[in-house]
Amino acid sequence: MDLFEYQGKQFLASFGVPVPAGAVAASVDEAVAAGERIGFPVVVKAQVRVGGRGKAGGIKVAADAGELRDHAGAVLGMDIRGHRVERLWVERAADIAAEHYVSFTLDRSARDHLGLLSARGGVDIEQVAAEEPSAVARLHVEPVDGLSPAQCRAWAAEAGLSEHGDALVEMLERLWAAYTEGDAELVEVNPLVVGGDGALVALDAKVTLDDSAAYRHDWAEYQATQGGDEREQAARARGLQYVGLDGTVGIIANGAGLAMSTLDVVSQVGGTPANFLDIGGGAKAEVMTAALEVINADPKVRSIFVNIFGGITRGEEVANGVVAAMERVAISSPIVVRLDGTNAAEGRAILAAHESDRLVSRATMVDAARTAVALAGGAESP
Ligand code: GDP
Ligand code: MG
Repeated sequence: MDLFEYQGKQFLASFGVPVPAGAVAASVDEAVAAGERIGFPVVVKAQVRVGGRGKAGGIKVAADAGELRDHAGAVLGMDIRGHRVERLWVERAADIAAEHYVSFTLDRSARDHLGLLSARGGVDIEQVAAEEPSAVARLHVEPVDGLSPAQCRAWAAEAGLSEHGDALVEMLERLWAAYTEGDAELVEVNPLVVGGDGALVALDAKVTLDDSAAYRHDWAEYQATQGGDEREQAARARGLQYVGLDGTVGIIANGAGLAMSTLDVVSQVGGTPANFLDIGGGAKAEVMTAALEVINADPKVRSIFVNIFGGITRGEEVANGVVAAMERVAISSPIVVRLDGTNAAEGRAILAAHESDRLVSRATMVDAARTAVALAGGAESP
């Protein structure tokens, strides 16, 4: 997941990286209020998850509230390379003596981490890297060894930045900590500025977090602003493993393997899956309710296929979960359940007692898939 600049700065700051004080604003009035709180001059920065904002006119310095009002009005709503500006970051304007560049990212072909450091940071770094590759010092870091202060010192010297001494070494170590302990796939600071007082500050932050590590962190705030497929956002908010697709048969299964097989079987009998949804080990009422809510909100869905293989979760718990979820959520599509595994007979008995044209139980996966596809309007002709 890519973070907005303001989130990237918040992330880096949590690892002790100095960043300018600032505030998020979603309107001109909010921006002006933020500027007055922070103190002028301030910089108005478009928050879009794409680079080159400076060159696109998305970064403007305001000397007073009047200028801030004008700039905020101009930048909000602006389109920067296909991204609409919905939020601004207003921060105290920095006094800039020099702009450097530093980043850490994964080098998949070398199977290690790659650090890039240059004294020639700023908005033209791509051009510098292309025309004068020697101006960018590259450092491969072994994942197991990590980054040592001695390596940082040699790396800084190669980039022509020895003058900063321990201050830069410390900055590099903090950025490395953010990258590794923070489970980022990319940490890029461009520019890393030298302020008028000589101190190093991260003036921009581009951070990509490793989604697979989300369970180790509290990233709820970052996740809430991700945008994208609305169904996927709703599923994420409920902690479900969901991928939206284009078909008409909603799918709920436990275990990624079974969910994939369910997609295959639905396709095999001529249907089109509306989604992939793995509810994991627990198939109790709460998670079943959450899953049905997400699928029910998809206007394309015409039927729902619940395919559960009871393991630790017993069949009767699953069946009770489905029945309870149907009482909690007004489901607009008929549900077809195929239940097998631990206590399947008990579960099927519960489903049989609630059987209606809204809830159908089938003994096998392929029968259930055929029924779900028929209820969704029938198989597509091959
Ligand atoms: P990007 O163009 O999307 O990478 O946005 P940046 O945050 O890197 O800003 C682009 C450029 O705007 C920087 O390289 C700076 O030259 C300038 N800039 C950003 N913030 C400030 C600031 O606080 N003061 C001044 N004087 N310039 C700034
Ligand atoms: Mg930048």
